[in-house]
Amino acid sequence: MPEPAGSTLAARDRGLVWHPYAPLDGPEPYAVERASGVRLQLAAADGETFEVIDAMASWWCAVHGYRHPALDAAAHQQLDRFSHVMFGGLTHEPAVTLAERLTAIAPGPMAHVFYADSGSVSVEVALKLSLQYQAARGRPGRQRFLTVRGGYHGDTFAAMSVCDPVDGMHSAFPGALARQLFAPRPPVARLVVTAEGEERWETDGSAFVTWAAEVEALAAAHSDELAAIIVEPVLQGAGGMHVYHPDCLRELRRVADEHGLLLVVDEIATGLGRTGRLFASEWAGVSPDVICVGKALTGGYLTLAAVLAARHVGEAITRSQFRALLHGPTFMANPLACAVANASLSLVEEGWKDDVPRVGRLLHEHLAPAADLPAVTDVRTLGAVGVVQLEAPVDVTAVTRAALRRGVWVRPFRDLVYTMPPYVCTDEDVRTIADAIVGAVAQVHE
Ligand SMILES: *Cc1c(COP(=O)(O)O)cnc(C)c1O
Repeated sequence: MPEPAGSTLAARDRGLVWHPYAPLDGPEPYAVERASGVRLQLAAADGETFEVIDAMASWWCAVHGYRHPALDAAAHQQLDRFSHVMFGGLTHEPAVTLAERLTAIAPGPMAHVFYADSGSVSVEVALKLSLQYQAARGRPGRQRFLTVRGGYHGDTFAAMSVCDPVDGMHSAFPGALARQLFAPRPPVARLVVTAEGEERWETDGSAFVTWAAEVEALAAAHSDELAAIIVEPVLQGAGGMHVYHPDCLRELRRVADEHGLLLVVDEIATGLGRTGRLFASEWAGVSPDVICVGKALTGGYLTLAAVLAARHVGEAITRSQFRALLHGPTFMANPLACAVANASLSLVEEGWKDDVPRVGRLLHEHLAPAADLPAVTDVRTLGAVGVVQLEAPVDVTAVTRAALRRGVWVRPFRDLVYTMPPYVCTDEDVRTIADAIVGAVAQVHE
């Protein structure tokens, strides 16, 4: 029996609860009734129900799917010990083990870990850390950051200040955001994977030369004011699913070294296998000074992020006036989250090397027909990421519903319909996702 109008969950939600970047009187959300494996059971406000594959992995986090037995067990076991304790003056096994493991697998010799409660907060901490680092080295005037256009680093104030100044939320908060330095967006590149599995990056070499010269000029002109360079390595996510050549990251490493800046890589979206390397920085073979990890860290179970820092960064902080990194959230290193993250990391290590290229190959093959649709300007894949770009903004409500009717949950934004599915999708699941995206775009954007 359908519930009487006015008492459905969607009706109770509407006007009461804010959703991400959505007006209170925006379109009604779908209610999640169950989630298991890679599937969500959804109910629309009008009573229609759907059982669908989550092609978003809950905003790129749920890489092992829902109700995974190993993750559920890790959570239950930790719940039976203690679910939270303060981290000031106390420590616990899940936090220490996770730190040991993260520093061991991260690119470059990472020696220290700071736990934050969300990706945005980890970016705040990384930026704060950079200022403290420069002050410790006798350069307290270095208070600004260099980044590239098209980036996304989170929604808190310092994080927002390094998001793309046009597409980000800068115009909503004039005067409240620190003014950072923006180099052009790194030129687009494409990873070509041959039938033999050989990988080759392609980009416009002259565009790279122009871009590199602009970065160098900007850094040189402002080096006295700059503390660090912050970028998403190789794949800019929420800023437009833009893929750029690993050489650009190498160039940023060189510029950072030349001008005494830290290189902070935001691997919140790209870390833990998503792009086809465990960390996207590995595509360039660079050692960052600071790495932010989040999103998939707990397999989508709980909110947790980590800032990893190289030894020389830790040494500078310890020598600084305050000796400590000046941050300390209430829920720092939440034991439940750390315990689940340890279990999730084990699953990632077991599976990503097979799963991510497998999912990627199938996305590449089955999204390809989208390129023939009149509304589509580009189709691209990198690792377990598949993107269909349209010539105009997506009709989000219509494409979402059309994809649901084809068995798939997507959440398009701007001119992009994309998928970052759970790594554990079967071949059949990936085909269903790709077919649903192509079909929904063809139907709505004729
Ligand atoms: C999602 C994201 C963030 C912000 O993380 P939250 O957990 O949403 O605060 C920061 N940087 C990148 C690259 C992201 O994709």
